[in-house]
Amino acid sequence: MDNYDVIIIGGGPAGLGAGLYSARRGLKTLILTETLGGQMALAHIIENYPGIEPISGIELAEKMRKQVEKFGCEFKLETVVGLELKDEIKKVKTKEKEYSAKIVIIATGSHYRRLEVEGEEKYIGKGLSYCATCDMPLFRGKKVAIIGGSDSAVNAAIYASEIASETYLIHRRDKLRAEEVTQENLKKTPVKIIWNSVVENLEGNKFVNKIIIKNMKTNETRELELDGVFIEIGEIPTTEIVKAAGVEVNEKNFVIVNDKFETNIPGVYAAGDVTGSFAQIIVAAAEGAEAATNAYLYLKGGFYGERKPTDYGEKKVS
Ligand code: NAP
Repeated sequence: MDNYDVIIIGGGPAGLGAGLYSARRGLKTLILTETLGGQMALAHIIENYPGIEPISGIELAEKMRKQVEKFGCEFKLETVVGLELKDEIKKVKTKEKEYSAKIVIIATGSHYRRLEVEGEEKYIGKGLSYCATCDMPLFRGKKVAIIGGSDSAVNAAIYASEIASETYLIHRRDKLRAEEVTQENLKKTPVKIIWNSVVENLEGNKFVNKIIIKNMKTNETRELELDGVFIEIGEIPTTEIVKAAGVEVNEKNFVIVNDKFETNIPGVYAAGDVTGSFAQIIVAAAEGAEAATNAYLYLKGGFYGERKPTDYGEKKVS
């Protein structure tokens, strides 16, 4: 079994931020992740990371990976399948191997929220996608609808308007909650917005070719014929494995942390989207940095070894 000071689960901005701060503090650090970059890697363009000119998500993730490796943090594309966290030395099992560490930082992020309507399961990958950045190029010259009213949906609609022949944005309210600058950009496109409406079901043959939409104000339903549907309605935290290992989550399944990013288990920290914080790259990276620094202080008993143990468990917030 390979032993580390710190194992970070997740290779998005929270995990990479944690890896950077942990490795620079001289801790033997390993990042285990299924994919590089997490949700960040799916972003078509990122223009709100300070000091970085507009860049694709995957490019920014690659830069971050190179940076952590430069400081000695190991990075492995392995899927974590099991955790034993309660003892002082924690065990992390991947499909390939088993590792041990004194500290585990959970940075597992989130995954796509489903609409949970009839036809959804059937048409995944058959005209239905949860990732405009990944799949929109397949819909060149086609008619598509985007579901949602926040940044992901509005960005997807703007992107679609450059590729698809016709783009609809379907939102369950009468206004959007995307950033104002994004809403202004949407106004410059021919995207047609269907307000106050929800999708009731998806229909088609082998591929989706129609959705049934209900207006929430009038209760009227209508059909919209199309070639593609993009569900962009946010994400839910990836916490199944950590929950099974005894890490406490709140009613929305986000990992509960205190102001030091400590979980209910000593030596186990969490950072980024999995904690339910503002889902932004800058926030996730910063939380990772803070979690790793607090983990270092926990291991060393303060900067000068003056504290033992830390005031673990105090000021718990969710
Ligand atoms: P989000 O902010 O959680 O918004 C989800 C959207 O989907 C909301 O408009 C919500 O409607 C709608 N929705 C949720 N469940 C639905 C359902 N069952 N049926 C119909 N509509 C449903 O998700 P997000 O857009 O993925 O953004 C997540 C975070 O990432 C946010 O903090 C966002 O600002 C950030 N982000 C930023 C950028 C950027 O470029 N700055 C890009 C993408 C994401 P309601 O409004 O009615 O709740």
